[in-house]
Amino acid sequence: MGEKTFLYPCSRCGMCCMAKPCIHAMATGVPEHTQPCPYLYFEKEEAFCGLAETFPQLDFGFGKGCCMKGRLIKNGKEQSVAGIPVAMKRAFVEQLRDGRGSIVCNEPERTR
Ligand code: SF4
Ligand code: SF4
Repeated sequence: MGEKTFLYPCSRCGMCCMAKPCIHAMATGVPEHTQPCPYLYFEKEEAFCGLAETFPQLDFGFGKGCCMKGRLIKNGKEQSVAGIPVAMKRAFVEQLRDGRGSIVCNEPERTR
């Protein structure tokens, strides 16, 4: 089986790590429903992972595309969260970082 890739590119908005810790974060003891992942940090609008910097040998799936699940409904039209424009993703993350809004995460685990 081939390696999993995703349709839309990753813009390093950080939304996925705001929503749920990945398997590597959970392996270090981060509880499943922690928001945001404690290893996530930002430089301006760009997301970085402190854990990946400590353990560069681990595969975090960086570069494989946007793994963010879920759908947005706007003006009655559904859209994949992964496929929304970068500016919209970043604006949403900025709101989350300011404590305005939240992500409801029903998935049992992240795709990576
Ligand atoms: S990729 Fe890094 S910041 Fe994101 S959830 Fe995993 S450990 Fe946390
Ligand atoms: S939500 Fe998607 S685009 Fe944003 S950091 Fe995560 S994988 Fe990348």
